Amino acid sequence: MEIRYDRTGQPYKGERFFSRGKPAQCPKCESPRMVLILYGLPGPREVAFAKEGLIALGGCMMTGDDAKWECWDCHTCVWPVEWKPQ
Ligand SMILES: [Zn+2]
Repeated sequence: MEIRYDRTGQPYKGERFFSRGKPAQCPKCESPRMVLILYGLPGPREVAFAKEGLIALGGCMMTGDDAKWECWDCHTCVWPVEWKPQ
């Protein structure tokens, strides 16, 4: 069985959250501070935004299965729900 890791390098424990749009609050700790995860090499502006808690920096590594939002308080990641036609 394939072992999967989240973007903090921790193995998944089968807990994964999905949302259709940006979550209003964290599904785990109910914090309202959900931020967009920005992938790629950050510029000075992105680093400044991240310091203020406006975005999270996801790094350059993309797996094709990446979370889109992250809780600023407990770092729970939320994946976007893919819309599939019936
Ligand atoms: Zn949280």
